[in-house]
Amino acid sequence: MPVYTHSACLGHDTGPGHPESSQRLAAVIQALHDQLPGLDWREAPRATRGQLLRVHDEHLLEAVLEHSPAARTQLDPDTVLSPSSGEAALRAAGAGVAAVDAVMHGDAERAFCAVRPPGHHATGGQAMGFCLFNNVAVAAAHALDKHGLSRVAVVDFDVHHGNGTQAIFEAEPQVLYLSSHQQGLFPHSGARRERGLGNIMNVPLPPGTGSRMFQEAWVERLLPELEAFRPQLVLISAGFDAHWRDPLAQMQLDAADFAWLTGELCAIAGQHAAGRAVSLLEGGYDLQALRECSVAHVRALMAG
Ligand SMILES: [Zn+2]
Repeated sequence: MPVYTHSACLGHDTGPGHPESSQRLAAVIQALHDQLPGLDWREAPRATRGQLLRVHDEHLLEAVLEHSPAARTQLDPDTVLSPSSGEAALRAAGAGVAAVDAVMHGDAERAFCAVRPPGHHATGGQAMGFCLFNNVAVAAAHALDKHGLSRVAVVDFDVHHGNGTQAIFEAEPQVLYLSSHQQGLFPHSGARRERGLGNIMNVPLPPGTGSRMFQEAWVERLLPELEAFRPQLVLISAGFDAHWRDPLAQMQLDAADFAWLTGELCAIAGQHAAGRAVSLLEGGYDLQALRECSVAHVRALMAG
């Protein structure tokens, strides 16, 4: 199975003490290398301007790419731009595009993108919440425009709501956005009543939610919606910050829960999408949890 990554993604420097550090991605890459020797490692290309402009405004591209700060600049209290951040953001978004091309060309059924910065908080016009470009949204828009798909699902199990992905697609019925997330956390969106055109479904979960409640939410609400949509491609915003060890949230999942959900998503992709699923790394801020969860998730994608 292809795994797209790029060394530039390690060069995005958020500064000392920032939870979204390059150690996160280094831990994921190392764990996948050590524990899943059969992976097909590929260098992520840069996303093109045209690919980014499908979902982002010109002024966001300028802010991220044309402004080359000599040192670090804060775009907001959480979101940092360092001299190498533009290149990292281009490679992270380009990974998703290349992975979509690979599964659409039948080169592989599934693919994983081991990238940072993460993407799901970035809106069309604004970088936020550690995210510069919305990698999964760029990938979804590419699948619609380049490959002519008309039903693309974005499944987001990061512990935070993917407000950016929702905002980009809430008026686009060709994209279904499904999210489970912890209630009351950043970015404070993702209420059940936010339905877009009926193509958005949010299931906020209380702090302390463990395996049973999480699996129930997916089995009873989110997976039936995905099934009914009959996606031609399943994209996954794979954040592992709902793990019990994570320092930024209070959910109680473990690696087996992520493996379980991945298996369910692959089964639906198998029924409707010729098996096609592309997963992109989002959050996850405990290194040990990230190692275990990314291996469990990628193993389930390979088995799917
Ligand atoms: Zn998150």
